[in-house]
Amino acid sequence: MARNNVPSELAAGAPNTALLDKLQELERRYVAGLAEKFDRMQEQLEAALKAENPQEHLVNLHRQMHTLAGSAGTFGFPLLGDKAHQVEASIKDALVHLTPTRLTSLAEEVRAMLAWGRIDPKNDHLPQTEQHVALAKSAYVAASSRGDSKNAAIARKVYWFDEDATAVSNISLQLTFFGYQVEIFSHWPREGVKIDPNVPAVLLIDIGFPGGGMAGIETAAALRLQHHLTFPLVFTGSDPSFDARLAVVRAGGDSYFTKPVDAVTLTDRLDILLKVEKKRPYRILLVDDDHFSAEYYGALLSNAGMELCIVEDPQKLLQEMAAFSPELVLMDIYMPDCNGIELAKVLRQDNLYLEIPIVFLSTESNFGKQLDAIASGADDFITKPIAPDHLLLSVSNRVERYRKLRDLIMRDSLTGLFKHSTIKEHLERECHRAIAAKTALSLAMIDIDHFKIVNDNYGHVAGDQVIRSLSHLLRQRMRRCDIIGRYGGEEFAVIMPETTVDDAVKVLDSVRQVFLNIRHYSAKGEFSCSFSAGVVEFSEEADGKNMFLRADQALYQAKGNGRNRVQKLLG
Ligand code: GH3
Ligand code: MG
Ligand code: MG
Repeated sequence: MARNNVPSELAAGAPNTALLDKLQELERRYVAGLAEKFDRMQEQLEAALKAENPQEHLVNLHRQMHTLAGSAGTFGFPLLGDKAHQVEASIKDALVHLTPTRLTSLAEEVRAMLAWGRIDPKNDHLPQTEQHVALAKSAYVAASSRGDSKNAAIARKVYWFDEDATAVSNISLQLTFFGYQVEIFSHWPREGVKIDPNVPAVLLIDIGFPGGGMAGIETAAALRLQHHLTFPLVFTGSDPSFDARLAVVRAGGDSYFTKPVDAVTLTDRLDILLKVEKKRPYRILLVDDDHFSAEYYGALLSNAGMELCIVEDPQKLLQEMAAFSPELVLMDIYMPDCNGIELAKVLRQDNLYLEIPIVFLSTESNFGKQLDAIASGADDFITKPIAPDHLLLSVSNRVERYRKLRDLIMRDSLTGLFKHSTIKEHLERECHRAIAAKTALSLAMIDIDHFKIVNDNYGHVAGDQVIRSLSHLLRQRMRRCDIIGRYGGEEFAVIMPETTVDDAVKVLDSVRQVFLNIRHYSAKGEFSCSFSAGVVEFSEEADGKNMFLRADQALYQAKGNGRNRVQKLLG
């Protein structure tokens, strides 16, 4: 699971020189290439005038003009952009009903624009990039945070102030299983409390610490003041009354747990407070045949921590969609060979891409055309040039909504893990990847032992809690690239890419040992649980369905061999 924070150069609010350099370099190259662009347009115009059938040349000219209209504004030539936009409209008109007179007047208009362009645009130039960087930085907060691909368990601390050291040490042991480092204070240390403000932490304070009553409220205030802390603050106490809860709220507490504290519920809460599960970066696919615009908007988006795939050739779209599986498609409207509206329709024809947000990014200002785009199944229309903060906000809002929708469909409500059907789809995809990349792939089926007895003895609520704690543990312990699903009631499936069966057994066995040590609490007493797991490795002869079957057989063998074990398929 990724726990990386914002890239340091952004987090610190320092000027992002790398992005600035990149954007300025793009802008320089754009300016240097303008004359050449004008030459190409002039060529198309002259060819149109000479040709028997000028249509084709005018279509080319229209496309060049359209691209210019879009990019000029982006690179700081608003006036040139406007002029190109007008000429673009004239060419479009002329194409509808082309007469020799219309062509002559059009030629004049184009020549005038090109002549103006060659002399004047530099006077018109307002370098945009610095302003863009500033905006992009401020919009960062709205955008996703960057994640890494490894399971980096960074230290997270709990400073726990409670006089009942024995009760606390038991739960704190549970917390360590979930990746927390706990420092317990059962009395005020003579040397004072040392707190490292740089390590993410939670203050966990008994409401009566020290000495009883509501002393904990003052303790919290003193700690926060002394250390200038903004850490989350959680209180525990044995008083379940409204007054106690109100006192906690007034003291700025984020949470109140009545004793006995349940370790799993507590970790759930701590994880939320410390935002342990960092968001995966948004995956954006950008389709734009204009290399400069693609690079420019691409740089802004990736600077905001998004993962980006740029497709300059629409023919390659479907292929890239499958490989990259984006969460939003940002698409230019005018491209050679096929336009954005057609492309959106192509995507929508595929069941896989029915819900993916499509946003057009184009210079099209014609309202009717924009409506066409929306009718083709697009979600939004953004006109270029666009302020980076608007772009980032629009993109992040849509990806967030898409994720929520996907989660509702694909995730189990008790555990937040993938559902049965989704995990099967994932396995199929991973099998394809394993074949293509010639890498190992393992699948594990996990089933809690004697779970019926847990329900019978401690009740369904306690049973649910056990399921949640295992799902929690799996999320904590598996790598980000592993795919975890709730396969059925108390059964889980874990897909482990690039992992041999022996390695998978090792990993799961360590999870098994931790799970065994977790104490579960219920009104009818404390208990612990074990699980059994069966693990199999992908081989080309066996397809995805077969893998589930074989993993199930391995699980069955593990149960037969006495439960509380992880094993690969024998025989
Ligand atoms: P074994 O070691 O052989 O797996 O024994 P078991 O008792 O775990 O196996 P069995 O599959 O017979 O029982 C599973 C039980 O899990 C039955 C069902 O009531 C319970 N269960 C299934 N889903 C849930 C759930 O979401 N919450 C709770 N609390 N119980 C569930
Ligand atoms: Mg079971
Ligand atoms: Mg079962």
